[in-house]
Order: sequence, then C-alpha cells, then structure tokens
Amino acid sequence: MKIISLPSSTLIVKKLQGNKWQIEGGSVLKEGKVYVPKNEELRVKIIQLHHDVLVAGYGGRWKTTKLVMRNYWWPGVTKYIEKYIDGCNMCQRMKNGIYIPAEKLHTLCPCPCCL
Ligand SMILES: [Zn+2]
Repeated sequence: MKIISLPSSTLIVKKLQGNKWQIEGGSVLKEGKVYVPKNEELRVKIIQLHHDVLVAGYGGRWKTTKLVMRNYWWPGVTKYIEKYIDGCNMCQRMKNGIYIPAEKLHTLCPCPCCL
C-alpha cells in the first residue's frame, strides 16, 4: 500500500532528525512502522481493519492499539484509538454491565421434607 508519494515524504524526512525515520517503497517509516499521514479517512480505515473485523473481534483499547502499532504509527495514535473505541457502538453494547447477584436457590415444593 502506497501511503505517501515520494517527493512529499522526502521533504518530511529531511525536516526530521535522527535515523528513526526512513523511506521504503514509497512509504515513510518510523522505527520500522508505516507513518500514516494526517488523513482522517485513512486512519479510521486502519483502525477498522484492526478492530471491526471478526478476526480482530472488537478487541479493547489495548488489543487494538497493539494490533495497529505492529505496523503503523502516527502522532497520538493511542489517543486516537481510544476515542474510536469510545465511540464504537458494538463495544459500548458489549461492555460489562452491573450485575445483581442471584438470590439463593429455594425449593418450590411445600412439603416438610424439602424445606
Ligand atoms: Zn468496538
């Protein structure tokens, strides 16, 4: 997947210091992870692919962040994922509710031997 065209990514890398950044196959990498430019649609799509699919299983913040950050990075990625999951309809419905403890079982038979 081509994330950024080479001329613009070259400019970005030249502005940044250190050898944590590199260009590979038309993508900008930071410490081996693909830098995702400030593109709302693209960032949401990446999170959806790591959260909303059956294989990902609507994992929580930690699991989704771990899956996304295996290959991608952008400034504030963790907060971005948290915000996404807070707004995820499926996750909100699946959250654990407050459970009222069950009462002790009692017999329905009125005879003295069962009481
Ligand atoms: Zn969710």
